[in-house]
Amino acid sequence: MFGPPAPPRMLPDPRSNANRPAEMPQAETACRTRLKALGAAFEEAKPQGSSDGCALPFPIRLSRLSAAVDVEPDAIINCAAAEAAARLTADVIGPAAKATFGEDLSGVDQASAYVCRPRNGTNKLSEHAFGNAIDIASFTLSKGTSVEVEPAPPEKNAKFLMAVRKAACGPFKTVLGPGSDADHSRHFHLDLAPRRNGGTFCK
Ligand SMILES: [Zn+2]
Repeated sequence: MFGPPAPPRMLPDPRSNANRPAEMPQAETACRTRLKALGAAFEEAKPQGSSDGCALPFPIRLSRLSAAVDVEPDAIINCAAAEAAARLTADVIGPAAKATFGEDLSGVDQASAYVCRPRNGTNKLSEHAFGNAIDIASFTLSKGTSVEVEPAPPEKNAKFLMAVRKAACGPFKTVLGPGSDADHSRHFHLDLAPRRNGGTFCK
């Protein structure tokens, strides 16, 4: 075979080539302390990465966002994204569930956290490739109600979903969902993408 070399399957990111320090950085330990204080349950997980540039040097396996709220299935994720999700749960998702449905939030169903892959249709690494994102497909309430993220939810669900989506923008730097594009019609994508201006992209 002759001709130009194939383009890289994924473009590297500054985070791709960072060496994993032998000791956990202080930012990671401090995050774990805060996450525990929120009542979240998690364990340390094996470092993730690949020659394509995916990198998650200090992952956790997150099983609960608070004492009362389960994550289904457990998510392999970085601590910062887990903390943002736990805070959003405590500050907004739980209260909005109670106010809208009169039920307590009991579970958040995630569709993906760490996944070594590019963004759909590009060769740029997804925030999922750094464990810096979580996709939420549905919410489970204490009396068994399930609220799915979907393009045309029932009215009550729509109100709840809109409140969650709006509040997520800020704590999370990227918020996508139904209406953003075809890839996000059935889940909320929330990530902490580092941006030069610290701004948000919520669509
Ligand atoms: Zn996503």
